[in-house]
Amino acid sequence: MYLPDSVLSLLVSDMSRPIILKSNAEIEVMAQANQIVAETLTMLKERIEPGVSTWQLDRWAEDYCRKCRSVPAFKGYRGFPGSLCVSLNEQVVHGIPSRKTILRDGDILSIDFGVKYKGYFGDSAITVPVGSISEEVENLLRVTEESLYKGISQARPGKRIDDISSAVQNHVEKYGYSVVRKFVGHGIGTDLHEAPEIPNYHRRKRTARILPGMALAIEPMINLGTHEVKVLKDGWTVITRDGKYSAHFEHSVAVTEGDPLILSDRRKNIEAKKVK
Ligand code: MG
Ligand code: MG
Repeated sequence: MYLPDSVLSLLVSDMSRPIILKSNAEIEVMAQANQIVAETLTMLKERIEPGVSTWQLDRWAEDYCRKCRSVPAFKGYRGFPGSLCVSLNEQVVHGIPSRKTILRDGDILSIDFGVKYKGYFGDSAITVPVGSISEEVENLLRVTEESLYKGISQARPGKRIDDISSAVQNHVEKYGYSVVRKFVGHGIGTDLHEAPEIPNYHRRKRTARILPGMALAIEPMINLGTHEVKVLKDGWTVITRDGKYSAHFEHSVAVTEGDPLILSDRRKNIEAKKVK
């Protein structure tokens, strides 16, 4: 989860707050926090089907993360009522779980989840098809997830934050999609949202240089139509202005001397299951 620019600027204001580098020991704890998030998302993905309410998903997520001795990071954050952000179809981010929101065949659901574990945060998001979806929307999901990995591939020493932003934007715009501007990725650590801001579009070249020990939550929010969004009367749910579908994928990543380490990698869950 991330905040509107207006609010975020109060908290982060880009370069006004230092970027906090993490030790290897801290990265190890962050990997554990993010693996709880990853396991939760994998569990939810398996249970998503027509007829399930977003409230039920929220219950499953909170129960699981508490069993893992972590606490849901979003619940109560600035008054947010849920453990999950669940954003359906034209909803971009920050949708509120509800008994009244029942998944239907052809929907897409973006699930954003974060936990706090041993003082450190984990944060990751996926967009999941419900039943069978149109080819147009399937492509949106695929390209959005691809753009996340394009961004992650830039998270290495010698690059700048803008290289991540530009990699995401260049990939999705090739397909005619648009990048949400109002919300951005962020540093992560003992705070859910730390410096730097990580936009998913090129804003300016002179952004922070990427260094080993940075922990970054990279999270493209990509729309089929216009990049413009608005907030519903509930004060949280962000929707596309034209009502077209939107997708969201996020990983928390640690920068190393070599390849970036995807802390919230869900493939580790699958491997762990195979071993058992
Ligand atoms: Mg998130
Ligand atoms: Mg985030």
